[in-house]
Amino acid sequence: MKNLMDMGLPELKALMAELNEPAYRAKQVLEWLNRGERPENMKNIPLALREKLAERPFGGAVIKRTFVSQLDGTLKFLFELEDGELVEGVLMRYKHGNTLCLSTQVGCRMGCVFCASTLEGRVRNIRCGEMLAMVVAAERTQNRPAHESRAITNIVLMGSGEPLDNFDEVVAFLWRVTSKEGLNISPRNISLSTCGLAPEIERLVNEAPHVTLCISLHAYNDAVRDNLLPINRKYPIRAVCEAADAYAKTTGRRVIFEYALIDGVNASQQDATALSLLLKGINCHVNLIPLNPVKERELAGVSRQDAARFASWLSDGGISATVRREMGADIEGACGQLRRRVLEEESGA
Ligand code: SAH
Repeated sequence: MKNLMDMGLPELKALMAELNEPAYRAKQVLEWLNRGERPENMKNIPLALREKLAERPFGGAVIKRTFVSQLDGTLKFLFELEDGELVEGVLMRYKHGNTLCLSTQVGCRMGCVFCASTLEGRVRNIRCGEMLAMVVAAERTQNRPAHESRAITNIVLMGSGEPLDNFDEVVAFLWRVTSKEGLNISPRNISLSTCGLAPEIERLVNEAPHVTLCISLHAYNDAVRDNLLPINRKYPIRAVCEAADAYAKTTGRRVIFEYALIDGVNASQQDATALSLLLKGINCHVNLIPLNPVKERELAGVSRQDAARFASWLSDGGISATVRREMGADIEGACGQLRRRVLEEESGA
């Protein structure tokens, strides 16, 4: 039986027909689901229908713990899904709006050597309705009066997991959050970050709203990238860059390449020059991230000055680049770190 939170308007209409209910109830139910409300709280729905809806699994998410950065007010949430799985989300608060970073899988099977999310492999995919429930739960923490605009203005799929390894649920989520009868957030305010599943990047163009595509590149040549991101052995740099270029051309949207600077691996002037040659001609921007050291891994980041110098080398090569602002450094910034710490604590490790 499908979870209620996973149902959009067409599925709810079919369900109402099946239950001999008038079609307009579908929209009423959807409005409640968009606010993460369970059947018992659906005030304008007759009791008999509420009871029938309550027989179905809900498929939501609740905030189990919240951590607040003393440095910049960033919030890190540990969400609990209905089967007890824990996933992370981060709410970054800026003057011009708030960005929620969401996870798309519990764990990850991509095996990137610098990333904490993948250390124990993939546990399971996160469903569309669960991602939606996380947005709603995070929104609620901001206590906005109903007449004001939304607290969450931007969403980035950059938490744990590889979104394109969970293609169908992620695409369903993108339609739900961008549609008028969903959360009505503009695709321009949504970013999806991938380690480079080239065939799925190609599918996005025709199958999903045109969100900002971010590609975790981290190296300009296959020898280095093969060692950092094992997926590169399947989809090498050339295939990824071709897919990114096609996405930029068809959608008219600038693609973002993410590049984590790792001391002694990919951070030299020669790396910058070669990277700018690789990206020349693609409508893109490079987002530099000084590597966030993960305690289980032996790789070191670079200083912010070195990152700024790398950005200027890229600019000299004609490629626009900025260094990503570090948010919430005191509350376990890198993907997967918080979930791991809490699991360790709970198991008494
Ligand atoms: N699977 C997706 C999204 C998740 S990670 C992807 O690979 O893009 C979001 C970004 O953080 C990616 O660019 C990822 O490579 C990067 N990242 C992961 N661990 C990191 C670390 N320890 N330091 C810096 N960046 C990291």
